[in-house]
Amino acid sequence: MSEHGRPRRVSARLADGREIVYFDERVLEHFDDKRDLPDRVSHTEVRFDPLQAEWVAIASHRQTRTYLPPADECPLCPSRDGRLTEIPSPDYDVAVFENRFPSFVGVADPAAGERADAGGLFTRRDGVGRCEVVCFTADHDTSFHALPPARVRTVIEAWIDRTVVLGAQDGVEHVFPFENRGKDIGVTLHHPHGQIYGYPFVPPFAERMLRCARAHEERTGRNLYADLLAAEQADGSRVVSRTGHWTAFVPFAARWPVEVHLFPHRQVPDLPALDDAERDDLARAYLDLLGRLERLYDQPLPYVAGIHQAPVRAYRDAAYLHLRVHSVMRSPGKLKYLAGSESGMGAFVSDVRPEDVAARLRELE
Ligand SMILES: [Zn+2]
Repeated sequence: MSEHGRPRRVSARLADGREIVYFDERVLEHFDDKRDLPDRVSHTEVRFDPLQAEWVAIASHRQTRTYLPPADECPLCPSRDGRLTEIPSPDYDVAVFENRFPSFVGVADPAAGERADAGGLFTRRDGVGRCEVVCFTADHDTSFHALPPARVRTVIEAWIDRTVVLGAQDGVEHVFPFENRGKDIGVTLHHPHGQIYGYPFVPPFAERMLRCARAHEERTGRNLYADLLAAEQADGSRVVSRTGHWTAFVPFAARWPVEVHLFPHRQVPDLPALDDAERDDLARAYLDLLGRLERLYDQPLPYVAGIHQAPVRAYRDAAYLHLRVHSVMRSPGKLKYLAGSESGMGAFVSDVRPEDVAARLRELE
């Protein structure tokens, strides 16, 4: 049994029809959205790049989205004292709602399909899918690493719920929960929050990883991720921390100045497949990792954290759930920008040894 009770799940609609789902740890009251909102965005487009065999989302409406509003105009704070936000209730624990400025939206229309011009070189289709915002807390001035373990456990339940719901939506092929933290990496709102993308395709990074995993399996009969985890555990020089069910390590060929992968010891395709003990332990292991990262420099670390799950349909048996956190900050105040080689060629040049980063993170207990 889990050491934490399951949160109460309440679904409602915002004034423009977008869904909001609350995950309540306490008995909370939720109010109707009284705002007068413009029509919601109902369409985006994806275009196929035949040179990379990759889909690119074209969501030009995102140009107008909210950029770093003052704290008293934060759209993710609860609605209080007559100020109406994206969350119509006076208080909440964890709240998830459909993004007002989505990269993907709507369900697949069988009549629409792909439209190809120029002999198939210009292929486009509707950018169906779903983009959601996950608010981790009603407290504007905290961050994920400072949340109590019970709250992180509720966030994990919210991620699991959304993985199941979005994965069941027509046209969604991959569900990716992630968090961008820090204005240095393009965060447009300070309130502690993450996002979830339900993509209408398997994203390029996942596709490439899973093809490698499939090839390894054909060659060896074993799972590539499981082999890598075992090799990192055996080597030990890049292991950051280890709990009963999870191991965090800096990968052998880390691309980023700070990069840590967190793997469960049991191969599962996605978050819903974790048992209660693994979910409880994930809350502890992830907080421990974020705490170490926070103490790395004498200033908050900007980072991107992502949960890598199996696609909805493809590669289910080859995939291995894991979390990745990386930062572009190579020393206090110094950011690694994606320079010519990385942005032009996708060839990463790192100026730190992964073993040195792991040793520093190990000490920061
Ligand atoms: Zn706020």
